[in-house]
Amino acid sequence: MGKLRVVNPADGSLVATLAADDAKTVKAKYARARAAQPAWARTPLKKRLAAIERFRDLVVAQAESLARVLTSEVGKPISQARNELKGVIPRIDFFLAETARTLKTQKVSAEKDGSMEERISHEPLGVIANISAWNYPWFVGSNVFVPALLAGNTVLYKPSEFASLTGNEIARLLHEAGIPADAFIAIVGAGDAGAALLKQPVDGVFFTGSVGTGKKIAQAVAGRMIKLQLELGGKDPVYVCEDVDIAKAAAGIADGAFYNTGQSCCSVERIYVNEKVFKPFVDAFVAEVKGYRRGDPADEKTYIGPLTRAPQVKTLEAQVKDARRKGAKVLAGGERIKGKGNWFAPTVLVEVDHSMAVMREESFGPVIGLMPVKDDGEAVKLMNDTEYGLTAGVYTPDRKRAEKILAQVASGSVYWNCCDRVSPRLPWSGVGDSGIGLTLSTYGIETFTRPKAWHLRGA
Ligand code: NAD
Repeated sequence: MGKLRVVNPADGSLVATLAADDAKTVKAKYARARAAQPAWARTPLKKRLAAIERFRDLVVAQAESLARVLTSEVGKPISQARNELKGVIPRIDFFLAETARTLKTQKVSAEKDGSMEERISHEPLGVIANISAWNYPWFVGSNVFVPALLAGNTVLYKPSEFASLTGNEIARLLHEAGIPADAFIAIVGAGDAGAALLKQPVDGVFFTGSVGTGKKIAQAVAGRMIKLQLELGGKDPVYVCEDVDIAKAAAGIADGAFYNTGQSCCSVERIYVNEKVFKPFVDAFVAEVKGYRRGDPADEKTYIGPLTRAPQVKTLEAQVKDARRKGAKVLAGGERIKGKGNWFAPTVLVEVDHSMAVMREESFGPVIGLMPVKDDGEAVKLMNDTEYGLTAGVYTPDRKRAEKILAQVASGSVYWNCCDRVSPRLPWSGVGDSGIGLTLSTYGIETFTRPKAWHLRGA
């Protein structure tokens, strides 16, 4: 077994050293999850629900210490770590409320004389691999393992190597809540541990992460007749119409771009503003961003923290350099902050265009470009000029106008006067490089099952 070093991204200090899985231990964990699956599937749903309800209660009771663990390893400002722990509860509650109804066996038709009955049941997929990201480990993890377990699957959960302590906490609490030790097994390690997991004959792969890794995962499971879901990145646009309340829209959109230090899959990454209000909107936006408090993520008042991954600092530097070279103007930030840890100043760019990486490639950090547009048609064209399609938003008091625009945008989720938002009741999915499959909503419960068709003729 190798070692995994957990490093605090705010100052580079060592938080913990964990034993990491290797090909041999991953194989042994798979064998345990496979052996446990039939008994777990036979466990009455009521018992599975009761265990997840206890898990929910444990998360509520221990939220403060769990938030601190999260902050120590990903550098998420503590108030936002608390928000994540708070926000995961309604998601779990949704699954607790909806699973029995969604997975109920349905009688769909019968011949009039009663001689033929047709039924649909929902069978678990079996053993699933849940390979996860670090930016919202509680959200993206629970979107998968909660409904997967409720549906009778056993789960091999590979948290990101940048959120391994949280991954271990999740396993500890699930087991304490009564989920059998072999029904949910955490795999500790980096990409090699994920790759070793994919070599096992699992029945489904549910991945959340970058498009680059997503493509590798798709290749690794190609040719195997198993379910594959990929929840990937985004380059999410927002369009600001000329009739908005500028101060309110600027504050809301800046939060959508910079919350979690810009490291959300649905962070606002491109802003188009009707040219009639471009100047006042940019002024209000820059003032908002300059007011953000950056600093120690353990400090209650901090809004902007470090980048979780050190290499992302270079990615952002390269995007800003490329934009500048092509004529962009920096109105705030624009560079890394020297010293310990992975820091980049909140950055606002104007005079940007779609030839620049900052308007095409996921930034996943506190960097944003704003562009004026002449009308709704140009806004739609630019919003759709992307390989991605996770979310898109429009700000205007005119609902009809917003719905007309949003209907033309190729995107998994669309927003009117809001952004950077996820609801447990709505499916979370992407178009193009933002991925395939979905989580959340009742579809996100069914997705962990295989519908089985029953044709039953009386003797
Ligand atoms: P990443 O792709 O670097 O890593 C994701 C996971 O894949 C990690 O657990 C990693 O260890 C594992 N991995 C890496 N190489 C692997 C391989 N060859 N085989 C198997 N597993 C491997 O992504 P990240 O940095 O953890 O997350 C950030 C990305 O995730 C961003 O692009 C973000 O937009 C995206 N994201 C998307 C959603 C969504 O719902 N669509 C949600 C959160 C994050």
